[in-house]
Amino acid sequence: ALEIAQSSNDQHALYSASIDPYSERRLALMGELRTAIEKDLLKLAYQPQVDVLNETVCGVEALLRWQHEEMGFIPPDEFIPLAEQTGVIRALTRWVLEKALTQCAYFLEKGIELKMSINLSARNLHEDGLAEFFMDLVNRLKIPVHLVVLEVTESAMMEDQERALEVLTDLDEKGFKISIDDFGTGYSSLAYLKKLPVKEIKIDRSFVMEMSTQKDDLMIVHTTIEMAHNLGLEVVAEGVEDQESLDTLRDMGCDVAQGYFLSRPVPVSDLEAWLETS
Ligand code: C2E
Ligand code: CA
Ligand code: CA
Repeated sequence: ALEIAQSSNDQHALYSASIDPYSERRLALMGELRTAIEKDLLKLAYQPQVDVLNETVCGVEALLRWQHEEMGFIPPDEFIPLAEQTGVIRALTRWVLEKALTQCAYFLEKGIELKMSINLSARNLHEDGLAEFFMDLVNRLKIPVHLVVLEVTESAMMEDQERALEVLTDLDEKGFKISIDDFGTGYSSLAYLKKLPVKEIKIDRSFVMEMSTQKDDLMIVHTTIEMAHNLGLEVVAEGVEDQESLDTLRDMGCDVAQGYFLSRPVPVSDLEAWLETS
């Protein structure tokens, strides 16, 4: 109740079991996440990103998967917030980066050059030594740094603007490509956007998925592409679920598409097969 009261406008809250974020399940998961990393129970799935114009794969996004021994599949939307609350996100992000970039290096060895997009959480922006850890890793694995895309949600960039600007500028200067994830959901101002060292924006899937039935969503996608291009940014549309959406995006000049229509996030073995046949 205290936690909810502190974040509400009127500073009042009554305890209710239905909104208790510390349910038995969540408490159990919080405890087990750390061991899941150590016991290698987490996996990465990769979702291809496709160049809209020439329909070739240009990169992949690494997405976390947790197959719990008893509870089955736990969606990242459920355990990432827990990792953020408990501070485990620090170790988790480093694990993801290490795993994904090792994969990237393996692809490079085979002559496949793919950009690797990795999700950063708002909490990561407050860590010391993050950029140094990233640099050590790309140097050790000999990965051209421009192949590493760091996705930060629009809301994470808005949370502590000064800090976000400082950390992202540092990463940008080191050569990493910064991408704004879930764009359109975080109320950022154009003035702030212009200041950020961002190279790419990802239009939130909610707009793209409804584009063919909702006129407003189509308008939002269209305007976002225009605006981004005017600012010199690349645009990725996520949540592309059918041919019609892909065609519409091409007509609107969108650069890159990602979504179930092209491929779901898949284990690395399936990705290799997909790369060979696509
Ligand atoms: P996100 O970064 O927006 O990731 C895209 C999500 O959209 C993924 O869900 C993906 O499976 C889903 N998606 C992709 N194409 C389509 C489509 O055509 N239709 C629909 N309906 N959905 C599509 P997923 O894998 O469940 O991940 C959910 C969220 O969890 C991610 O959203 C991201 O915020 C977070 N997450 C996942 N992995 C990581 C990670 O390694 N680190 C951090 N910090 N967050 C992560
Ligand atoms: Ca993402
Ligand atoms: Ca997203």
